This record gives sequence, C-alpha cells and structure tokens, in this order.
Amino acid sequence: MFGELQTSRRDRAKGRPGGPGARGCAGRPAGPERFEKVRLSVLGAPVDGLTLEQFVDQIALRVCGGKRCFVVTLNPELLYRAQRDRDLLDMINRADLVTADGVGVVWACRVSGRPVPGRVTGIDLMTALLDHAARRGWRVFFLGSAPGVAEAAAEKASRMFPGLRVVGVHHGYFSDRDDHEVAGRVVNASPQLLFVALGSPRQERWIDRHLHLLDGVAAMGVGGSLDVLSGNVRRAPEWFCRRNLEWLGRLLYQPGRWRRMLVLPRFALLVLTRYRLGLGKSRAGDF
Ligand code: UDP
Repeated sequence: MFGELQTSRRDRAKGRPGGPGARGCAGRPAGPERFEKVRLSVLGAPVDGLTLEQFVDQIALRVCGGKRCFVVTLNPELLYRAQRDRDLLDMINRADLVTADGVGVVWACRVSGRPVPGRVTGIDLMTALLDHAARRGWRVFFLGSAPGVAEAAAEKASRMFPGLRVVGVHHGYFSDRDDHEVAGRVVNASPQLLFVALGSPRQERWIDRHLHLLDGVAAMGVGGSLDVLSGNVRRAPEWFCRRNLEWLGRLLYQPGRWRRMLVLPRFALLVLTRYRLGLGKSRAGDF
C-alpha cells in the first residue's frame, strides 16, 4: 500500500540533484518564469493575483528549477492575527507565493481596489498539486493531523492519483523535543511537495524554520485538508462553496469552530475602516 514509503535512500538520491528529468520535470522550462507574477498587498500582507492553474505552474517552475517555494494560503484569521504580530506579518511577506484562501481575503482585495482573479483554497491547490505530482513522479510528504490521518490521506490520494509517490507521512502531535527528529525524517525523504497540517500559524512557522534544509521543494500549510482528504471530516457541501459560504458549511459540520468565526466581523470592520474610510494603521507595521 505504501510502497513509496519504503523508497530506498539510493532511489531518492537519484531524483535529487540531477537534471530536470531527474526531478520529474522533463520538457518543462526551468528558466525564467512564464507568468509575470501579480503581487498585491492587503493589510500589509502579499497576495498573488493568480488562478489555481497559474499557482500550479509557478510552483512547478520553482520545483523544477531546484528552488524552494514557501506557499501560504492566506485566510482572514491569519491576516487579522498578523495585524497584531509583526513576526507573523514578516513571515507571510517571506512567502514565495500567497493565495487568497477565504472569501474574506478576496473581498478585502476588492475593497482595497486591487482585486484578485478569485479564491484559491488550500485543499483545491493541494489536490491540483497531487494530480500534477502523480503525473510527474514527484515525491510527496504529508506531515500533520492526528495519528493515522496522514496515512489515510496518503492512501486516499494514492487511489485518487495512481502512481503518486508518497515518500513519507508523520502525524502532527509531536513535542518541541521531537521537532528535530521529525524535520530529519522530512529531510531524509527529500520531498518535492511537502504538505504541513499543524494548524495555522504553527504550520507556516514550521515551514519557515525548516525549509532551508530542503531543495527543489514546495511546502504549504494545509490546515484541516488532510482530515478532509482522509475522509475523517467532510468538506462543506458544494452548495455552500458555490455561494462563498464555505465557512458557514464548515461550521455546520464542526460547530466547535464558532469561536474562531468571531474574527470575521472584526476583520470586515478593519478592512472597511482602512480602505473605505482611510483610517488606522496596523499595530504590526506600516502599509
Ligand atoms: N494539528 C496538529 N497538531 C497540533 C494541532 C493541530 O497536527 O498540535 C492538526 C489538526 O489535527 C488538524 C489541523 O492541524 O488536522 C488543523 O486543522 P484546522 O481545521 O484547525 O485548520 P484550518 O483548516 O482551519 O486552517
């Protein structure tokens, strides 16, 4: 079932430095980026105005070019929190790609006068990347969620995308003392895609701290996406997603999240006062 988890060190090394072919990138331009990146700024944080397909393309170009790629999926909760946490805002600004995850961020961009093409959720981007990885033979690592969930997600993904090379999984309930060992496992597996589900912003901080240990890899925080992929948690029904009400649909399945939703009206108020009334500056910084 997890044949790829037993991939030998030699096999992994074969795909590591080599040319683009060795990275599962044959036929792909590893040189200049094909898209001009449209980087916007909202409440001091970057947002890339790209479609889902363009994000996949950008990520593929970086992985194939042997570069590291830190992807942040920005939602209102994270953006609001970053207003009061300068380190967090700086970290988001260090990301190579930032998607507008959450209808609140898409709306905030529009109110600020710099609209993005649309919402690109973590789970949609992860699914598109898994599809790409299976076709290219890329190595994938799932890190995070409760014990057993990453395995179940890997199993499900391997069924959805035949040929997917899952080179490692690890749950997300490890202590700071074990952090070094977990990072070592990821480094030894040498993934080209690393999905980290430790809750936000812990997952982004983990990536920010450890990404320099890896090459030719795209890493992104995926929150509860492994729970959904594994089948443990249902995604909000299509009806809610289509009407930009995914947050409400999630609340129906996970009522315990209500407290987290309290940030949404505060976030909306902040956006309106900043961009409609031109008032206020972030406590974290100047923008
Ligand atoms: N999680 C983890 N370790 C922790 C805390 C959380 O692995 O110490 C996992 C948790 O099991 C869940 C994910 O992180 O799978 C966070 O999901 P959540 O729904 O909070 O994220 P969201 O999608 O809202 O960003």
